[in-house]
Amino acid sequence: MKIATSLIAALFLASAATAVMPDDPAKIDTCTKPGVVALTFDDGPGMYNDQLLALLAKKNVKATFFVLGSMIAANAQQAGALKKILAGGHQLASHTYSHGNLDLMTEDAMRLEISKTSDIMFQNAGVRPAYMRAPEGRCAATCTKVMEGLGLVISHWNVDTNDWRFKDLAPAAATEKSLEEINKVVIQGSNPATDSFILLEHEIHKFSVDLLAERVIDSILAKGYKFVTMEECVGKPSYLTGSVVPPPVVPPTGNSTNSVAPPTGTPAPTTAAPSGSPQQTSSEPIRPSVSTNNKVNSAGLVRAGAWAMGVAAAVGFAML
Ligand SMILES: [Zn+2]
Repeated sequence: MKIATSLIAALFLASAATAVMPDDPAKIDTCTKPGVVALTFDDGPGMYNDQLLALLAKKNVKATFFVLGSMIAANAQQAGALKKILAGGHQLASHTYSHGNLDLMTEDAMRLEISKTSDIMFQNAGVRPAYMRAPEGRCAATCTKVMEGLGLVISHWNVDTNDWRFKDLAPAAATEKSLEEINKVVIQGSNPATDSFILLEHEIHKFSVDLLAERVIDSILAKGYKFVTMEECVGKPSYLTGSVVPPPVVPPTGNSTNSVAPPTGTPAPTTAAPSGSPQQTSSEPIRPSVSTNNKVNSAGLVRAGAWAMGVAAAVGFAML
């Protein structure tokens, strides 16, 4: 009985220790193996997409495109870009439909952002992405729960070109500014034998495609890294199979909007059991084996667990 009490206390304390881990393991921001860089382009497909695909083909680099449903819907050229991206060997992923702040939305509105984007991607390219990136990286606990419920990999980053900050500068100056973090974190501050990166860039800024992307690629290749898609970086399939996204939730008629619609009196339905469960699950967080930013976490978790076990043992002995 006392042993059982100690065990329960240990489990409780271990889970409490896990719960306060500052870096949410549900949010992927490094790869599961060293020596690779996942080059990711957000906010497209945009008007420079063809040019970017030509550059990537010339460099023989595979990238991941976190696209917006609204951009795909905007015109046929952007919708056609999805098939070109796939034909180039790149990965398609979701950046939601409207680029709104998910943390300000109801759970139903979050699901609608995903399902609308998944549907339009399926219509235009025949794939439903398994990876998503929250606009501005905003995906707190409720959003994380919803995205995991949909079987999605929440994709963050650990190095940022910050190109959106510099888009109004002269192109050459913007490029140099955008390379500052790359140079500091990847070129000077890392080792391909131990580190990996998910690198954030945007395809909708002209200088990013004209000048920055090639400089980023050349410098990182020279450092000794290999470029990979998010699938190879994380180790989970790029796309969901089957109709795993719940049917779109039709917002109530009237003047409510996705972002401010209050929950109705009944709790939001949990993820509707889709026809067939997702082929993959994100309930089992992936811990990067080695990373720059997360070096402490695995060890920290072990330490936290050991600490919890020790405290629990002490509690157990005290109760004897
Ligand atoms: Zn974005």
